[in-house]
Amino acid sequence: MLNPPQVFTAKLADRFVHNPKFTEYHFELVQPNKMNFQAGQYVSMAVDPAGHRRSYSIVSTPDNDHGFSLFVDVEPNGLGVQYLDRLNFGDTVSMLAPMGQFVVQSSDPAVPLVFVASGSGVAPLRSMLYDQLQKFAGQRQMTLYWGLRHEADLCWVNDLRDLVSDHSNVVFHPTISRAGDGWPLCHGRVTDCLLVHDVDVTAEYYVCGNQQMILDTIAVLIKRGVPESKIFHEKFY
Ligand SMILES: Cc1cc2nc3c(=O)[nH]c(=O)nc-3n(C[C@H](O)[C@H](O)[C@H](O)COP(=O)(O)OP(=O)(O)OC[C@H]3O[C@@H](n4cnc5c(N)ncnc54)[C@H](O)[C@@H]3O)c2cc1C
Repeated sequence: MLNPPQVFTAKLADRFVHNPKFTEYHFELVQPNKMNFQAGQYVSMAVDPAGHRRSYSIVSTPDNDHGFSLFVDVEPNGLGVQYLDRLNFGDTVSMLAPMGQFVVQSSDPAVPLVFVASGSGVAPLRSMLYDQLQKFAGQRQMTLYWGLRHEADLCWVNDLRDLVSDHSNVVFHPTISRAGDGWPLCHGRVTDCLLVHDVDVTAEYYVCGNQQMILDTIAVLIKRGVPESKIFHEKFY
């Protein structure tokens, strides 16, 4: 059951600049001071006095119900990005949350999960992946494809390395479209990898990013035999 959205205020508690492309923000809830959300949901934040809003997926996991983190691609540099950038620690924001229905469908750990993201689209998928690990530990097979332009865009490198080395049920394919010659892993777009890797037709697929990437990924998955009913997506732009 998804909780209906309500108005929350929260204050900026931390900001971490991963690299020139991605910044992570952590907010602590003020009023109400607890939020029950499901991994994959997002907040709709008021970003100017005229009432414009921007949506941001929650990258943290629901076990922290008194705060949440966002993972933001700063490149668009429009209203939303500039609003977040101008916030000082302790400043309050207003938002509607939790929003959206992009959440893991099957609660059966025997059903593998495959997460396919480009850019900041990894945010809801990272939340889902860690949430599933908290729920099922090593029981559920999970694979994350994360498409980025440059190796330098990668974030959480040590966390992701530890995640894979500590959990034999988790596979991570960072996929770099403009990789240097020395990049040892997947080159190209996530769809290039999905065309050549083994594709598990029994898995559920969660795809997040821009519209074209989503359309291309769905087309490849269907071509590889994945039933359309097993593919779920969230479009960022
Ligand atoms: C459900 C949902 C969840 C979202 N979650 C996140 C999230 O977790 N992290 C995040 O960074 N963004 C997320 N977005 C996108 C976010 O809402 C804003 O659109 C984005 O931050 C740009 O806003 P802006 O006001 O800075 O730029 P705008 O002025 O709104 O956009 C400028 C231009 O950039 C394009 N654009 C928008 N987003 C991107 C992007 N990520 N990369 C390249 N071009 C882009 C737009 O199409 C537009 O043409 C989400 C969107 C939706 C609908």
